[in-house]
Amino acid sequence: MHELFTTGNIILKTLVSHGYKGYFVGGCVRDYHMGRSISDVDITTDALPEDIERIFRHTIDVGKTHGTIIVLVEDVPFEVTTFRTESEYSDFRRPDAVTFTRDLHSDLERRDFTMNAMAMDGDFDIIDPYNGMEAISDRMITTVGQASERFGEDALRILRAARFASQLQFEVANDTKRAMAQHAENLRHVAVERSVTELTKLYMGQDPNGAKALMADTHLNRYLPFFDKVDDASFLRTDVRSLECELALQIHLAPELKQALPALKLSNTIKTNIGNTLRLLAMIDSSSIRNLAYSFDDRVLEKTADMIQMNPYLENGNRMSRLKSAQTTKPGLPIADASEIELDGNALMSHFNARGGPWIRVVLSAVEQEILDGRLDNDRDKIIEWVRAHVEYEAGNIEIIEK
Ligand code: ATP
Ligand code: MG
Repeated sequence: MHELFTTGNIILKTLVSHGYKGYFVGGCVRDYHMGRSISDVDITTDALPEDIERIFRHTIDVGKTHGTIIVLVEDVPFEVTTFRTESEYSDFRRPDAVTFTRDLHSDLERRDFTMNAMAMDGDFDIIDPYNGMEAISDRMITTVGQASERFGEDALRILRAARFASQLQFEVANDTKRAMAQHAENLRHVAVERSVTELTKLYMGQDPNGAKALMADTHLNRYLPFFDKVDDASFLRTDVRSLECELALQIHLAPELKQALPALKLSNTIKTNIGNTLRLLAMIDSSSIRNLAYSFDDRVLEKTADMIQMNPYLENGNRMSRLKSAQTTKPGLPIADASEIELDGNALMSHFNARGGPWIRVVLSAVEQEILDGRLDNDRDKIIEWVRAHVEYEAGNIEIIEK
């Protein structure tokens, strides 16, 4: 038994002892029965948010109006959500109204797929009114109720079907798949952040290529920012294991796509990673191995090597071996980055008795390159000596002299 269930059970038992119902619900029940690893456990109850806050000592209000309170047990956070129904969808995005209910079945009925619409009580007995267990044994993704209606309510579910197809390696039932195609257009109305969350999981799943084929079959890609600018052949041509690799590779193959990237509203970290991958791909043939090793961290070198290996059309005969050499060269470099140079801008200014300015960067990057190429030791006195011999400074003009 996973310890999240053991700890979560404390919450279920406490709810029951106060006269309420409490169940594990959704993805954790599915994953438990599939023997998959569990990363978080959601709980559903007929207790109202105020009741939950009253019963438990450590709670955090993360969305009381939608019925969700975080309960901390032994410092582990659990989302505890009041049974609810969702009704009156009008904009394909989110329910207009949240209605709390005392009925577990109504709560399960609003959930997307039958495998996600199961609950489990504190004795690990399963409540499965929509045949989720059967769907799991058939490895089938099927909506709860009419697929067309459910995708009409919330178009994100269409993309979630593709995400689960990748993560679980399940097939999508025929009617569900037909409805995906039928409602794909409504993905346009989904908040891009929600789509990106699903795409991120899709690419990290077991079978991103199968899911991409499904996306193309049902035309989902045509209605997602960025992807709507990539034709099907290019979309299906790449073999990657993360969203950021997909985006970097598509931009590498068609640089004008860079303009479409902001529409995805990605985090700065992801944008930086994509930028670094693109820079590495642009420098890979022309830079020295040492410069490649110095300019990129291990992660980018490794991810890019994987990318080339999985997409052989990127190889031109020696890119892989250049990346491998860069990786082995890296630990032996005289400096790991510019901050390790034994002489900084201040020392330079006092040596030349000059004010700061752009010249400092020019001199330091010349020094950096000398050290990196092994022509100069990273030693303060040696660097000063080199600067004396190679740099002419006059009223703000600097010149590096070849000697
Ligand atoms: P994961 O392992 O990725 O967390 P999960 O099944 O827990 O998978 P979540 O996105 O965390 O997926 O959602 C939790 C549960 O909430 C789902 O299992 C499903 O029952 C329900 N759910 C989530 N999103 C929707 C949606 N758009 N429409 C209907 N039900 C949803
Ligand atoms: Mg979850």
